[in-house]
Amino acid sequence: MTNVNIRNMLGLREVVNVSGTMTGLGASIAVPEVAEAMSRILPQFVEINDLQRKASAVIARLTGAEAGFVTASCSAGITLAIAGCMTGDNLAAIERLPDTTLLKNEVVVQMGHVVSYGAPVDQAIRIAGAKPVLVGQATSAFEHHLEGAINERTAAAVYVVSHHVVNYGLLELSRFAEICHARNVPVIVDAASEYDLRGFLEAGADLVLYSGHKFLGGPTSGIVAGAKEMVRHAFLQNAGIGRGMKVGKESIYGVMAALEAWEKRDHAGIRAREKSYLDLWREALGAYGGVSAAIEADPTQNPLDRLRVTVDPTVTHITAWDLVDALARGNPPVIARDHEVEHNYFYLDPCNLHPGQEQVVAKRLGEELDKARASNEIIATSLSDRNRRRFDSLRRWPD
Ligand SMILES: *Cc1c(COP(=O)(O)O)cnc(C)c1O
Repeated sequence: MTNVNIRNMLGLREVVNVSGTMTGLGASIAVPEVAEAMSRILPQFVEINDLQRKASAVIARLTGAEAGFVTASCSAGITLAIAGCMTGDNLAAIERLPDTTLLKNEVVVQMGHVVSYGAPVDQAIRIAGAKPVLVGQATSAFEHHLEGAINERTAAAVYVVSHHVVNYGLLELSRFAEICHARNVPVIVDAASEYDLRGFLEAGADLVLYSGHKFLGGPTSGIVAGAKEMVRHAFLQNAGIGRGMKVGKESIYGVMAALEAWEKRDHAGIRAREKSYLDLWREALGAYGGVSAAIEADPTQNPLDRLRVTVDPTVTHITAWDLVDALARGNPPVIARDHEVEHNYFYLDPCNLHPGQEQVVAKRLGEELDKARASNEIIATSLSDRNRRRFDSLRRWPD
């Protein structure tokens, strides 16, 4: 593991990531092809718009889109895509954003899609100067809600595909797109962490956005793909609000390398390896009363399973969140996926491990569960204290 030393040298904790692709942990393991491509192009001058043309061709080949480009992040992609829908190729209007006087500036989005991926979806819309118009309620949206939200000021519609969104009661993409298209409203799909590079465009998206640094194992970046004219309008924002979201040659070429590596990746082999990790952990946890471990499919049908670990604190003598925190405090720190931990379960995500780390995870789980079992009282800190500590610590940065 070549990465151990650099963290040591910098005085950073050598975290083991079983939480998934998290910005706060450095996203994903960049594939070797990406690291090599980026270091090869860094010393060279290139004409950036020509490099973006080359990226467009690779993005088009993999996604089936007419065109594409690379930007700073998927979040940036949302903002640029919406900006493009408002300004078209009007360069003066592009420079005036986020002032949208005289432009269509409403963006419809289902309320159940307005989630946080580390920052709010609606903020990515508002940064462009657009006004989010919420469709339906948190857990229900019907066709009449969408039809009623669209008017002559509607510039675009946003559709979010993610485990974060409400997964019932909302409109499915193909019907959502039909309704929008019947009213000449373009559909932008945020598919940041979806493995499916073609399906959303096929289902009716005009633009689709991906993160380069999630499943693709690329550099921190975002991919915008879709109808050529709309891609162009989003791309032109680089002369406006896109400036603060720019990527350099290394990220553009890094994304090209990531996409090409994705085409050649041994997807079945990786799936089998991940499955073996889940089996190992499930077996290790089987020795503990009060712990149940079940393999669960990804909620958005990515070809990825996770282990859901549910604890009964009266038997384990520790709550799920205290167990997660104990793992994170350990040596090495093991970071589990804990966004639903108030229900006394957490997930172990196998997709970001270096070989051998699966054993470390099994060992650390056992150590903490043994320690808790030997405890005379139930380790149960207050969840609100836990959240407060997290935000207090953030507010103290850089101390
Ligand atoms: C991760 C994520 C984003 C943000 O992607 P970045 O490339 O990190 O900006 C946006 N939307 C969804 C659904 C995500 O999962």
